Amino acid sequence: MSPGGGGGGGGGRGEPLCGQHREALKLFCTRDLQPLCVVCARARGHSVVPIEEAAEQYKAEILSCLRAGKEEREKYLESRKAEGRRSPYLVGAPIGSLNAPPLLF
Ligand SMILES: [Zn+2]
Ligand SMILES: [Zn+2]
Repeated sequence: MSPGGGGGGGGGRGEPLCGQHREALKLFCTRDLQPLCVVCARARGHSVVPIEEAAEQYKAEILSCLRAGKEEREKYLESRKAEGRRSPYLVGAPIGSLNAPPLLF
């Protein structure tokens, strides 16, 4: 288990992988504003779009997620929550069934 996950000297593919599942981060949660792998996306409560699609709209968030540490992101999320909870309508259908196992992210 490598904490943080980032900065691995794996080399080769520059593709960012999920720190938990080692899957490519191909999805993006518009609620958490963070990239997700397909396994993460099965957890309940995520509102995911393909990351290419999200890239246009959430470029800044994605980049900051990939670069910044978790603390940065949480601070950012806090500030967004402070604005008031806007529940985003679901963009795209959830991947997998609603009976996904309770994979807490
Ligand atoms: Zn994952
Ligand atoms: Zn989410």
